[in-house]
Amino acid sequence: MYINGRLTSGKSGEIIQVINPATEEVIAEVMRGTHEDVLIAVEAAHKAFDGWRKTPASERAAALHQIASKIRDHHDELVRLLTEEEGKPIPENDEELWWTEETFDYYAELGRHDRGKVLPPGEPGQFNFIIKEPWGVVASIVPWNYPLLLMVWKVAPALAAGNTVVIKPSELTPLTTLRIAEIAFDHLPPGVVNVVTGYGAEAGEPLVTHPDVPLIAFTGSLEVGQRIMRLAGPEMKKLHLELGGKDPMVIAPDVEMQTAVSGLAYAALLNTGQVCTSTERVYVHESIYSQFTEELADFVGKLRLGNGLHEGTDVGPMIRDKFRKKVDSQVQEAVADGAIIMIGGRIPEDIERGFFYQPTILLNVDHSMMVMREETFGPVIPIMQYRDFDKAIELANDCQYGLGASLMTNDARLVKRFFEGVQAGTVWINDPLTDNFAGPFGGMKMSGLGRELGQEGYDEFCQVKHVHWDIEGDIKDFWYPYD
Ligand code: NAD
Repeated sequence: MYINGRLTSGKSGEIIQVINPATEEVIAEVMRGTHEDVLIAVEAAHKAFDGWRKTPASERAAALHQIASKIRDHHDELVRLLTEEEGKPIPENDEELWWTEETFDYYAELGRHDRGKVLPPGEPGQFNFIIKEPWGVVASIVPWNYPLLLMVWKVAPALAAGNTVVIKPSELTPLTTLRIAEIAFDHLPPGVVNVVTGYGAEAGEPLVTHPDVPLIAFTGSLEVGQRIMRLAGPEMKKLHLELGGKDPMVIAPDVEMQTAVSGLAYAALLNTGQVCTSTERVYVHESIYSQFTEELADFVGKLRLGNGLHEGTDVGPMIRDKFRKKVDSQVQEAVADGAIIMIGGRIPEDIERGFFYQPTILLNVDHSMMVMREETFGPVIPIMQYRDFDKAIELANDCQYGLGASLMTNDARLVKRFFEGVQAGTVWINDPLTDNFAGPFGGMKMSGLGRELGQEGYDEFCQVKHVHWDIEGDIKDFWYPYD
C-alpha cells in the first residue's frame, strides 16, 4: 500500500495474489488491506488536506504536470505491467497510459483557472459571488477494466480542486496503481494521495463509511453502487457513481458497410467487451441485415485471440473465469430460448491457458433474453433487425441503463431523431467509444450519478458556496418592523 508518502505493508499481514488472466499465473502479491489500514490512510489524507487546499493553484498545477511527466518517463514499463495484470492488448494499454498522462495535464490547467464566479447583485449595494471549495478526503474506488483511466478521471480533478485522496484499486488489478504511487506521487506532500489495496468488503466499505470521507467517487457494478448508496445514505455523503451499461448500436440502411462492420467490431470487442460502454445490443435495418451480419461474421472471425503482450493480438482474455462463466451462461440461455450462434459461443479449445472466450455473434435474439437485458461484459454481439427507425429508438431505450448509445448513418435527419430520442449520457454517431477530455462522460437512468471529464468532471469535486455581501452595510427596508 502507499500511505502518508511511503510504501507500507499494512496491518493484517495477509496478502492477495494477482493473476495474469492470459496465463493464469500468479505475477505478484499485494497486501490485503483492512479497516485499520483505511483508518491510517484517511487520517493521513485528513491531516494533509488543510495544507493542500491552501497550496496556490499554480503550485498544485505544477505538481500535477509533474505527475504526468513522471508517468510518461515510465510509459512502456507501465503499459507492460497493465497488460500483465488486466489482459487487454498492448495498443489498448498504450492508449490507457496516454489518457492517464494527459488527464493529469488537462486538470492541472483547469484547476488553476477556475475558482467560481461573480454574479449580478440581488440587492443594491450587494456583491454576490460563488466560490468553489474542495470537499476534503475523497474516496476513489476503482474497477479492474480500466484501472488507471478510471482512477485518474477521479484523482486528477479531485487534486486539482484541492482535495486529498484515498484510492482503493480493484483487488484484481492493483499493480499499476501502486507503481504509479511509487514513481509519480512521491513529490506530493505526504498524505495527499494514498492507496489502500484490498477487497471491497474489507477495505472499500470502511472507506465509504468513514466519517472523515465526505465524497465517494466510485466506478463499478450497479449492485456495489447501490450498496455504497445505502452505506453512505445515513451521513448524506456526496456520491459520484459510474455504474453499468448495456449500450445499443443502431445501424441505419444507408451505412457504408465496411465502416459499420469494423466500427461495431471495435465497439463490441475492445477490451474483450469488458468496457462499461461496450456495444452490447445491435439493431440493424432489415434491408441490409443479411449482408451486414455475413460481413461482420467474416470480419470478427479473422480477429486474433491471444496474450495481450504478443504482437498481432486483437482480442485478449477476459479477466477471470467467473466472469467468463457468466458470459457463457447468458449465451447458452439465449440459445435455449431460440437464439442462433453465428460464430463463437464457447471457450476456445486451442488455447490451453488463460480466460479466453470466442468473440460471438448471436442472431434471432429478443428482449426477453438476459443477453439483451443484463450487462454481459464479454465478447458477445447480439443482433436484432428493425423496420422502423422509431422502433429502433424504442428498443434502444428499453433498458434500465443509459450509459452510451451509438448510431451508424450519414443521414442527418436520422441523427437528429436519434440524439433527441435516445436516453444515454453519451451519444456516438459513426464514432463509437471515443472520449474527449473537455466533454462530460457518465450515465442516465441506472448507469449512475454525476459526470467525469470536462468542467463537469471537475465540478464533481468542488462544493459551492454562494456569498452575499452587502458592502454598504445599510438597514434594509424589508427588515422588521413591517409597517
Ligand atoms: P465491482 O463493483 O465489483 O468493483 C468495483 C470496485 O469496488 C472494486 O475496487 C471493488 O473492490 C470495490 N468494491 C466491491 N464491493 C465494495 C463495497 N461493498 N464497498 C466498497 N467498495 C467495494 O466492479 P468490477 O467488477 O471491478 O468492474 C466492472 C463493473 O464496472 C461493470 O459493471 C462495469 O459496467 C462497471 N464500469 C462502469 C464504468 C462507467 O464509467 N460507468 C466504467 C468501467 C466499469
